[in-house]
Amino acid sequence: MINRAILENIVSRDYHVTCAENGKQALDIIKEEDYGFSLILLDLIMPVMSGFEFLELRSTDERLGKIPVIVMTAENEAEVKSLRKGAADFISKPFDMPEVILARCDRIIKLSEDTGIINSTKNDHVTGLYSREFFFEYIHQYLPLVSLELDAVVLNIDRFHLINELKGRKGGDRVLKIIGELIGELLLEGDGIACRTEADTFYALRIHRDDYGELFENIGRELAERTGLPRIRMRAGIYQRVDRGDLVELWFDRAKIACDRIRGDFTRNVEFYSEALHEKSLFHERLINDLQQAIDNRDIRVFYQPKYKIQGDRPHLSSAEALVRWVHPELGFISPAEFVPLFEGNGLIQKIDNYVWREAANQVHSWKEKYGISVPVSVNVSRIDIADPELESKLTGIIKESDLSPGELMLEITETAYADNGSQLVEVVEHMRSIGFKIEMDDFGSGYSSLNMITSLPIDVLKMDIRFIRNMLKDEKSLRLVRVVIDIAKFLDVPVVAEGVEDEQQLLTLKEMGCECIQGYYFSKPVPPEEFEQFIVKELENRE
Ligand code: C2E
Ligand code: MG
Ligand code: MG
Repeated sequence: MINRAILENIVSRDYHVTCAENGKQALDIIKEEDYGFSLILLDLIMPVMSGFEFLELRSTDERLGKIPVIVMTAENEAEVKSLRKGAADFISKPFDMPEVILARCDRIIKLSEDTGIINSTKNDHVTGLYSREFFFEYIHQYLPLVSLELDAVVLNIDRFHLINELKGRKGGDRVLKIIGELIGELLLEGDGIACRTEADTFYALRIHRDDYGELFENIGRELAERTGLPRIRMRAGIYQRVDRGDLVELWFDRAKIACDRIRGDFTRNVEFYSEALHEKSLFHERLINDLQQAIDNRDIRVFYQPKYKIQGDRPHLSSAEALVRWVHPELGFISPAEFVPLFEGNGLIQKIDNYVWREAANQVHSWKEKYGISVPVSVNVSRIDIADPELESKLTGIIKESDLSPGELMLEITETAYADNGSQLVEVVEHMRSIGFKIEMDDFGSGYSSLNMITSLPIDVLKMDIRFIRNMLKDEKSLRLVRVVIDIAKFLDVPVVAEGVEDEQQLLTLKEMGCECIQGYYFSKPVPPEEFEQFIVKELENRE
């Protein structure tokens, strides 16, 4: 009673005020007046109908829902709950200065008139978090009231479409709901706010913390457990200590840059925004934009590096590896180490790979025509290609076009892809082998395959990771590892290719250990096809 009288007094300085004794009476009056109110000031504790009940009812009445509500309460907890139930703001009891109350009323009315946002649904119905609009509106409103240091966080689920395919739409929604819960419980640590912006992207604003490593480990573990999906992966991009001088939307753009940066990078779940990262992301955007044109203009080319059999009295050219090169008209030479991981992350690698495969197959064909011998070429097959249901038809199409047998286009698959894709990859690889393709396991020793797993993998050649060779003559341990890899290959009864051999000493040591084949600067760097022909010519001379 007293409160109502005080409030009426304050508000009627600027507004025309109608009072009601309880929620029921208020509803009747509002309807009588044909919803002609700009604002409702709602006490949570009322006779007949509680404030929450009123909010509940309001949410079912579209016209009533368009009138913004400011809730008056004495408890902090109730504030959050009333915001969730659709209140636009709250005034705490005992009342603040009259000017503050009037300013709040004024702002909410303007906001409601200007944007209509406050009237719309504030919640994302799938997760119970805020909607994107409300999230930003809320930050704009409340930012001036907090002076704490804040971190903007963007979260995304890797390959969420696969979860939808696997679990169905409902199952996918359930996963999103669990993520919403984890964000509330663990990421926000009881403070801060979050929303789902689209499909599987979430934004959160929380009080600054320095270290997120353990926090995200926990979230990852809980996520796998609660969803029952052990391989589910959530990435986080974080812009720490947001700059309040910048637009709020920009904070999240930055966090998103960091989040996108680790897409497809299975070694990290969290990335932080920095200026350097920003530069890099601009560079990457440029590469993405220029890719198609680069293929059309043949700025993307295929180089070939010879592989030699070394066990006889003299080395023999056995095959080559096709390696992609990009010479950009403005940016100059761009290393595949730069763009391959980028395009693996966004799927564009398939464009490059399909182009490289076709070029390589044509090349084998034209060398065959010109020199009368077949120099098989191995091409790199990315983990993304493996997931492509059309992999087989693409490859068989390509070898048909160039009139090759499958054995003349060998497929290199990196060891880590085996570890990641597990049974699906094994199935695909088995199938490709059954049609006659030869499979080389690339970068062997860089992943974490267990011995047990390796022995059951379908492969035809082991390519030892370049790092073993780099260090083999520098320390005893690396040398022993080289020996172990060669022994494993013997056990599997497949030949070993040593990559990155740069000098004679390495070659002689490897030869003595029983390594069959060598690829490296010792023989040649990867070279354009015209230049590669000298190796074919020399090989033919040797054979005579
Ligand atoms: P990779 O398939 O393991 O290729 C071997 C890399 O080692 C090549 O680097 C090659 O130039 C380099 N290399 C060979 N011999 C030596 C040596 O004696 N010393 C040193 N220091 N390096 C040597 P490159 O061409 O920069 O390619 C890097 C990686 O990019 C490749 O590793 C492969 O994973 C990927 N890549 C290259 N071309 C393609 C492609 O067409 N498709 C896909 N998906 N990935 C590709
Ligand atoms: Mg390779
Ligand atoms: Mg390799």
